[in-house]
Amino acid sequence: MKWINKGHEFDELGQFFKQIEEILFVGDEDEFSSFQTKIAFLSIEPVHYNFEEYKINKNFSKKLLSKIKKAIYINNFAHKLKNLLKKSNNKLVIFSEKSGHLINKIVNNNLFIKNKNIFMQKDFELKYLPVYALYAKNKMYSAYSTCLVVTTKCTLNCKYCLNYQPYIKEKQHYEIKNLIKDIDLFFKQFDYVDYFSLTGGEPLLWKDFAKLINYIGENYRSKIGELWFATNGTLIPGDELCETIKKYDVLVLCDNYTKYVPKIKETYNKMVEKFKSYNIRTQESTEDLKFFKTFPPSEDYTKWNDDKMIDKFNLCKEQYSGFGLSNGKLYQCCYSLFANTADIVKEIPSDFVNLEDVSKRELLEFILGYTENGYCHFCQYCNCFYGIHNGGYDEGGVTQQPINEPLSFDINNYKLLNAEVEKCQK
Ligand code: SF4
Ligand code: SF4
Repeated sequence: MKWINKGHEFDELGQFFKQIEEILFVGDEDEFSSFQTKIAFLSIEPVHYNFEEYKINKNFSKKLLSKIKKAIYINNFAHKLKNLLKKSNNKLVIFSEKSGHLINKIVNNNLFIKNKNIFMQKDFELKYLPVYALYAKNKMYSAYSTCLVVTTKCTLNCKYCLNYQPYIKEKQHYEIKNLIKDIDLFFKQFDYVDYFSLTGGEPLLWKDFAKLINYIGENYRSKIGELWFATNGTLIPGDELCETIKKYDVLVLCDNYTKYVPKIKETYNKMVEKFKSYNIRTQESTEDLKFFKTFPPSEDYTKWNDDKMIDKFNLCKEQYSGFGLSNGKLYQCCYSLFANTADIVKEIPSDFVNLEDVSKRELLEFILGYTENGYCHFCQYCNCFYGIHNGGYDEGGVTQQPINEPLSFDINNYKLLNAEVEKCQK
């Protein structure tokens, strides 16, 4: 979106949200409890409407019963909502994903205006809750993930690496004191984020990884829904790191490259076992993991006009992108930050905001997709959203590369792995 009216893009909606007295949530117990947890930072108690209340127990055939139940439910429910909204217009109604099919039956009169006072949960959290949080409660919230790179060194060198490893000339481990500065600046602005990730390169290569997780855990864990990182399964984490990951309930995404580099299979399995032995939450990708080709571009996007580029960015933003945090700046898209780091494109001021001096309302607009150009500079070279729909996934292209520093992982395993790497390079 083009940033025309800086600091005031959401004034009208924000003023409406300021009048809201109550948030109603339609969904089952589990959905309600996760919604409650999410908005706890706002210190408000949403009101719950549960389907179960509308159950009837008569002796009808199953099919008929389910039709009747549904009709009665919708009827009762719509009736109840209408009465509520008639009494006072100062309410928002949020429908969970499972109850979403009801929304169209209810939005059929002036009382319910979709995306004004009645919302689907995911849409609400991504696009409207940040506005509500800031205008009504003076809190900054984002449903998008923000990532912080701790090192650009990696044990692998994947052709379609999303951090653009093959293009980075001088790989480096970042200084923990600088990363802590970025984290402090970020959480000075944000009161709650759904996701925050630490990334590489390969983060287990970085000697201060446990210390950094500990710092975030001690200072900001309550401001983060899901704290996570991904690892490539070539290193086995040390005990101190595992204890810290467990203590702060960090989710570990285990990327499985064993199909492409079979020699790491044993290490990969040991790594997963080690995490499990600490009861660490993991998500393992399948061996069929495919690469998502963002770069090089599969067509010349520099020929696209502004409107088409803005559409591309907006679609991408909704579906796939997250922010990048680096050197006191928040970047609209983490891939655009990675491309800057790899020197694929030069960074331009409209791709980021300075966390030190951006106003709250401008930051809100930025996180909801406003930039001077309406898209990031790197969007002109990146396949992302369009890539996915045009054969954007590919296999392989992974090679091992020598690693020289035994750091936060088991030294014995490092020696073994290093010998394997050397063999592999011959
Ligand atoms: S494992 Fe591959 S995709 Fe992941 S950071 Fe290393 S080179 Fe990139
Ligand atoms: S097209 Fe690429 S650079 Fe642009 S928002 Fe999508 S992922 Fe980011």
